Amino acid sequence: MPELPEVETVVRGLRAIVSGQTIRAITFRGLPKNASVSPRVSRHRTLHAALTGRTIERVDRRGKNIIMRLTDDVVLWVHLKMTGQFHYLPADHPPDKHHLVIYRFESFEETGKELIFRDYRRFGYHKVLTSDELQTQPGYTDLGPEPLTMSAEEFVALAHRRPRQLKQALLDQSFIAGCGNIYADESLFAARLHPRRLTTTVSKRKLTELFTHLQTLLQRSIDLMGTSVDTYRGINGQVGSFQKYLLAYNREGEPCPRCGQTLRREKIGSRSAHYCPKCQRAPRRSPLPLSK
Ligand SMILES: [Zn+2]
Repeated sequence: MPELPEVETVVRGLRAIVSGQTIRAITFRGLPKNASVSPRVSRHRTLHAALTGRTIERVDRRGKNIIMRLTDDVVLWVHLKMTGQFHYLPADHPPDKHHLVIYRFESFEETGKELIFRDYRRFGYHKVLTSDELQTQPGYTDLGPEPLTMSAEEFVALAHRRPRQLKQALLDQSFIAGCGNIYADESLFAARLHPRRLTTTVSKRKLTELFTHLQTLLQRSIDLMGTSVDTYRGINGQVGSFQKYLLAYNREGEPCPRCGQTLRREKIGSRSAHYCPKCQRAPRRSPLPLSK
């Protein structure tokens, strides 16, 4: 799933192409499963009626969410989920059954290019609503702070508020927004913290270290246009290159680049964690069941 750096890369690509553009036409080859239109935006409740003729004023990222603000206080909320992608392609691109939504902008006459929302698994969101309504949506309103702009003190305070396993806290979008498996595993590895350690048992100094690693990894990945380990691609089809620098994620069975011990993969909750059993010492005893 695209995480903060990948979504940020997509947002920057979209911003350059669609900001200030008016949507002239939309065609559908299939709908994302999570497509919806609020009756406050269009009584016809179709994406076509809700978006055609409106201008995209700005494109922002919040966590892993893409927020496009259009004229008349209309918001297009996109979440790429597992396999959502945007592509900006010449209109004579080969047909593809996973091209679900195709946008043409006023610039089409000049560029001959269309913006395509492609989603193989179809879990991506495509929701149209007003900005007030966005503020009440679960999955948006409960997002935690942005890791690139929050302070280390704030991170430590949140982590110490209640005990939970580090890995699960980092993945929880209401704890901090935008982190997923890749950057959780890599930052825990960098800080030599076991993914099952409880947040409340980690010192302020070590949590600050973890946070600093997380920020550095996220920023470095944005600079390299994200990590392409699965289907993630930038808007012009470009792959990110941060995967070259992954030290623990997806490397189970390989030697730890620090100590040579074999890296492990372990289920924590419903997700996998990759770590070094020697550099990242297991907590002696976890007072919480593994699944919580
Ligand atoms: Zn190691």
